[in-house]
Amino acid sequence: MTDFGLVRPPVLAGAALLRDEPLRQDTGRQKEGWATARVLLVDEEGRSPVLWGPPVDRSSAGEVPGAADRVDDTGAVPGVDDAGGGPRLWTRAASEVAGSPPADALLLGEADGVAYWAVRGGREQAAAGDEVRWLNLFSVGAELGGRDAALLAAAVALLNWHGRALFCARDGSPTRLANAGWARVCEAQHHEEYPRTDPAVICLVHDGADRMLLGRHRAWPAGRFSVLAGFVEAGESLEACVAREIGEEVGLDVTDIRYLGSQAWPFPRSLMLGFHAVADPAQPLRLDEAEISEALWVTRDEVRQALARGDDWAAADDPPATGTPPIRLPGRMSIARTMIDSWSAAG
Ligand SMILES: [Zn+2]
Repeated sequence: MTDFGLVRPPVLAGAALLRDEPLRQDTGRQKEGWATARVLLVDEEGRSPVLWGPPVDRSSAGEVPGAADRVDDTGAVPGVDDAGGGPRLWTRAASEVAGSPPADALLLGEADGVAYWAVRGGREQAAAGDEVRWLNLFSVGAELGGRDAALLAAAVALLNWHGRALFCARDGSPTRLANAGWARVCEAQHHEEYPRTDPAVICLVHDGADRMLLGRHRAWPAGRFSVLAGFVEAGESLEACVAREIGEEVGLDVTDIRYLGSQAWPFPRSLMLGFHAVADPAQPLRLDEAEISEALWVTRDEVRQALARGDDWAAADDPPATGTPPIRLPGRMSIARTMIDSWSAAG
């Protein structure tokens, strides 16, 4: 088994959002659509208001005192509540926010015929009666539906970029937002800059048969493993980057490098490009100890057992006091997990 494909789209693939490029420059059509548009709030820490369960009829449902203030600062995902259903983003009617699109609003795109915008905003802008929890993409992304995951990923990626692009990279003069958030223009010479994305490859190395390689970053607790990843360098192809990163991190030569899929990873602005490649387990492992503290070949059965336990990286933060901790794999939002699930299912 040298080849396999992803068993499902990555969580942050973003295809549920219609990116209407002409609309970004058409302020007339933006104003027309504002009456039915929705606005997503994202606070300075990248958190957005999230609701659980189906829409609630507020006229009959009692409000929960203080619920609007309930924030999970630990980043843990709260359980699904009694109302049933998973989490969904809480958005405001745009007409309640302003009479027309504010100058700092970002047009994310359209979904189900509705235009979605994002603005930086905190709890003071959320309706007090709504039972929302403020959560970041990292903690809630895997539980959101495709539309909401795409909206929040786009909002966080764009906002992260705007926060770091306040001055022109060429002449240092201040920049202002343009194209409904999809460009910035410098005030001195009108240099344009567009939202930046940093490509990173992530590669599942396997032996073409029944074994794959897992690595543990030196900063991770015992038991936490994933596939190997690294940033693409200037002037380098994706395939060359895969071969270089695997060579640098674990000392293996790889062949049969094949593309699997990609997803946004706006922490703060990466694009993860997933590959798999074949290596011979008879080669000695030579770890780059500045990055990798442990690497091991595991069988498909061992991977399936780790997946079947159902817990992921979060559980590896509290390893048992004695003995070797079990292997914990990345959570469902990561493309690493999609790749591992796919390899596991392929044999
Ligand atoms: Zn400039």
